[in-house]
Amino acid sequence: MTLPPNVHDAEPIPAAAREAIDALMQSGDLFRYTAPEDAPVALLEQEFAELIGCKYALAVSSCSAALFLSLKALGLPRDARVLIPGFTFAAVPSSVVHADCIPVLCEVGENYRIDIADFEARLDQDISAVIISHMRGHTSDMDAIMALCAARDIPVIEDAAHSLGTTWNGQNIGTIGRVGCFSFQSYKMINAGEGGILVTDDADLVARAVIMSGAYEHNWQKHKGPRGENTPDLAEAFAKWQNQLPLYNLRMSNLSAAVIRPQLPELARRVRDGLKNHDYVADRLNAAPYFDVPAPLAPERRAPDSIQFNLVGMNEEEIKAFAKSAAEKGVKVQVFGLSTDNARAFWNWQFLSDLPELPQTRAMLMKACDVRLPVRLTKAELDITVDILLAAANETMGRAAA
Ligand SMILES: *Cc1c(COP(=O)(O)O)cnc(C)c1O
Repeated sequence: MTLPPNVHDAEPIPAAAREAIDALMQSGDLFRYTAPEDAPVALLEQEFAELIGCKYALAVSSCSAALFLSLKALGLPRDARVLIPGFTFAAVPSSVVHADCIPVLCEVGENYRIDIADFEARLDQDISAVIISHMRGHTSDMDAIMALCAARDIPVIEDAAHSLGTTWNGQNIGTIGRVGCFSFQSYKMINAGEGGILVTDDADLVARAVIMSGAYEHNWQKHKGPRGENTPDLAEAFAKWQNQLPLYNLRMSNLSAAVIRPQLPELARRVRDGLKNHDYVADRLNAAPYFDVPAPLAPERRAPDSIQFNLVGMNEEEIKAFAKSAAEKGVKVQVFGLSTDNARAFWNWQFLSDLPELPQTRAMLMKACDVRLPVRLTKAELDITVDILLAAANETMGRAAA
């Protein structure tokens, strides 16, 4: 008999990482700036930029650090207003606060994507920058967002923490805005425990971010452009910003890079398996009553490692009973708005001085469910997961009808 799957264990790290780590243990060379060239972190930056299709990449300690550095690298003044979605992880408003800016929240729709009409209305409220959070890998309408922001000359940062491998019109998510930020935390597509990376085509912006990430003195000389080459615009930018910026020391260690690099060639397979598994579960859920898995937008090709669905025709008590029943049967369902102190529910971001109300986003959060689907799950494990969800719904609603 197949048991409900353990959804918290990650895939094993490829064996090649052990050899690289052993070599680092032998040499003790853990700091990215000790070696004159080809440090694992520098190689990771080159490989990642090539993989994703951008000129520059800067590896840092987390995606939160990458978001913070992006805001600082844009040169936003204190109290600049930054528009973010009302459905995101608490790290996003936190990075804005960390950069001495003010988060402004916009509404998110039932399909977990930014409400473009509300976004546009708020864009004209003295907004200096935008962070688009592709929450759980759901891509908002990037064509509309880029057009609206370009018309107002407002820079776009993409929080692609959970979107590595997702494409929009065939282009990698994270390369559409001025800057893109990814995470290597354990629950993302590539797992280093912790870590992040910032990507951009803008030499001046990356030079500022590199220095502020902790490239003190002339360590920026170890940062190169495409294919490891020095580009004149990058050299010029570093010379311009020498000694002009504070150092926040958010660097990545060579150990993390050694864990990440052998996983890059695994990405395409993980994306393929994750999407296949997700769509299989989505089809089975959509065919049953009580479940609605929102469809992707037409230009979007997703890279999911979890599934989100809305419960249909259940009141709050029934939704709670459904989640309890599924948990008892072995599948953990997180209802974003119902789990206590959830970091993705905007009303829990009480560190914000001016916490807004977003009725549409709140309504979505009260019935939106989240179930982890690590890409390694087998079809039998997917089936048992779906069977449990269906049984929990039928049991809850059967009981309600009786
Ligand atoms: C995980 C995540 C983050 C934070 O990433 P860290 O690397 O843990 O800082 C930010 N935004 C989204 C959408 C995430 O999923």
